Amino acid sequence: MATIAFIGLGNMGGPMALNLVRAGHTVRVFDLNHDAVHAIAEQGAIPCPSSCGAAAGAEVVITMLPAGKHVRGLYLGESGLLETVAQGTLLIDSSTIDAESARVVAEAARKKGLEFVDAPVSGGTAGAAAGTLTFICGGSDDGFAQAQPILASMGVNIFHAGAAGAGQVAKICNNMLLAVLMAGTSEALQLGIQNGLDPKVLSQIIKVSSGGNWTLEKYNPCPGVMDSVPSSNGYQGGFMVDLMCKDLGLAAHTATDSGSATPMGSLATSLFRLHAAKGNGRRDFSSIFEQFEQQNNK
Ligand code: NAD
Repeated sequence: MATIAFIGLGNMGGPMALNLVRAGHTVRVFDLNHDAVHAIAEQGAIPCPSSCGAAAGAEVVITMLPAGKHVRGLYLGESGLLETVAQGTLLIDSSTIDAESARVVAEAARKKGLEFVDAPVSGGTAGAAAGTLTFICGGSDDGFAQAQPILASMGVNIFHAGAAGAGQVAKICNNMLLAVLMAGTSEALQLGIQNGLDPKVLSQIIKVSSGGNWTLEKYNPCPGVMDSVPSSNGYQGGFMVDLMCKDLGLAAHTATDSGSATPMGSLATSLFRLHAAKGNGRRDFSSIFEQFEQQNNK
């Protein structure tokens, strides 16, 4: 068992850190939100006064933060983690961030003789709680080999996508598709409802037909169709619209860099930005369902 520093205890990081505690690791935790630290300390994690305090004496540091600027801010700079962690510490960032930030931090870590693995996740808050996440890693073979047994306490599918930043590229390809699927599924369900269909029955039909997809299997956007998903809980918790907008921005940036055409991604970006601009930024992304309800009711 290892001593692990876990920094960033939000919707995803909290349950991920808890699974490390349950697996028997010593888990030292920090978040800017004291309530989040307190909640997991009650479950057996060790609360620390700062990120560097959590990392002191840890063999592994895991970060789960909102965006690239937070990751760069935490690792780089005069009093950043790269300046303070001991030699041999394995650094794993599971946030979804731009591939460039991941490469910059990995290169800075390499210059200090440290392994940094970008390891964004898929599976949502339910996967984080159940320990069934998919990890999509970028980094050296050695870094990946070291990270694998640690990540296995929090997930079931662990992929090595390629060199530093490759995990982030694969992750944003996935999330761009997820945004398209969530918007399209919401549109189809609302069309059925507006034409007198029961959304539960329609969901069952499409789920096993050619329109079936992950959102219908695990994350139905229509309230009351599925238990224990954000749509049946006022769209609270889950994956915030603001974070989906961030990921779609990362996809657009990557597409621009490579000259790729992503028209479906562009449309989904506009829809989710519109939804965020109407005050939904902190709600779960499946609340995009309501945009179609309002439009169809006009
Ligand atoms: P969140 O906003 O719930 O949690 C982020 C946490 O980081 C917050 O508790 C915040 O206080 C903390 N934080 C920010 N800056 C910090 C700092 N400098 N030091 C310590 N703590 C700091 O977000 P989340 O939903 O847990 O998502 C985290 C990351 O995982 C994001 O990059 C997101 O895109 C990605 N992600 C989320 C989901 C999901 O379903 N929520 C799924 C896959 C990936």
